[in-house]
Amino acid sequence: MDLLEHQGKALLADAGMRVPVGRVVTDPGAAAAVADELNGAAVCKAQVPSGKRGKAGAVKLVATVAEARSAVQDLLDMTVAGHPVASVLVEQQVDIARECYAAVLDDPGSGGPVLLFSDEGGMDVEELAAHDAEALQRLAFDVRHPPSPDVLRALAASTRTPLPTGAVADALATIIDCYLACDATLVEVNPLVVTGTDDVMALDAKVTVDDAALPRQRERLVSLVGELPMPGGTELERRGRDLGLSYIELDGDVGILANGAGLTMTTLDVVTHYGGRPANFLEIGGDAYTKATPALELVLSNPNVRCVLVNFCGAFARTDVMTAGVLDAIDSLRPEIPIYFTVHGTGEAEAIEMINHRREQPPFDVMDDAVRAAVAAAEREDA
Ligand code: GDP
Ligand code: MN
Repeated sequence: MDLLEHQGKALLADAGMRVPVGRVVTDPGAAAAVADELNGAAVCKAQVPSGKRGKAGAVKLVATVAEARSAVQDLLDMTVAGHPVASVLVEQQVDIARECYAAVLDDPGSGGPVLLFSDEGGMDVEELAAHDAEALQRLAFDVRHPPSPDVLRALAASTRTPLPTGAVADALATIIDCYLACDATLVEVNPLVVTGTDDVMALDAKVTVDDAALPRQRERLVSLVGELPMPGGTELERRGRDLGLSYIELDGDVGILANGAGLTMTTLDVVTHYGGRPANFLEIGGDAYTKATPALELVLSNPNVRCVLVNFCGAFARTDVMTAGVLDAIDSLRPEIPIYFTVHGTGEAEAIEMINHRREQPPFDVMDDAVRAAVAAAEREDA
């Protein structure tokens, strides 16, 4: 789960990081009130789960209460990287002497977390690594033995330009603490700034909490950051989640119903291989019998869908039971678009007989043929 900047900052502050004074607002009047508390000078930052807000004009420095009011109105009218701006963080301006980059993230390479640090912050880490690999220091560590203060001091002292070593080392330790306390997969602070008075502060925060840890993190997160972001996804994906179905909306026109995540992904690949474009990922598997109707309804709710491909392959799961569920769903929903079946494995003979009996279009022996038929149908219907 990706948190917004102000939420990430609340978690960092809880771990002991200094962050600018400020509040998140959803209307220009509230922004004016916060700016007034800050004596006019403020930074207004769109709260969207995307970096590069600076470049997109979504970070505005203002000098007066009136400017804060109009800047926040402008930001609330913006869409940044596809996200409509629903809230704005209005906070104290900071006197920036240096912008550094610091992050802790899960690193598949070392199989654990890695601390990244650079005295050249502000830009993207990808850009930073590309433009000057040596500017970015990496320290992989074991979650059970995070780096000691001495190690962090040495890291902070080894930059090419001098920094207030103690304060930077403390900030790095805090970022590590935050990562551990939140079961995060990413805590990125860019920029981590050194102020004119040699204080170190987080001016931005990107925190991703491991979704698998949400059951044990939820209460703490809610107490520190308030309401959690709406689970992401499209309207159809939210419906899928509410139904307990693993549905992902894609931008093609071939609807997919398959069992098992592996077979479902293979089906998407084969559709793509034959020049088609899948409209969704939907793995129904064991739920096929009981949830086939809402599942098919979900697939058909995507207005781009021109045909449906049903691909079942069973070992323990009985394909005849799954097929019966889908056939009942078709009977109750009566979709007017073509539906192609290909069924293999346990219960295959019974499934094939049922399809032959209840559908005009017989099932396909070979998966590729079913996929080709679906891709051709989608093209035909599009034309
Ligand atoms: P991002 O572009 O989405 O990563 O947004 P950031 O929060 O990192 O802000 C982008 C840039 O705005 C920072 O790198 C800073 O240079 C600048 N900025 C943000 N807050 C302040 C501030 O309080 N004072 C000043 N002078 N600049 C700021
Ligand atoms: Mn940033």
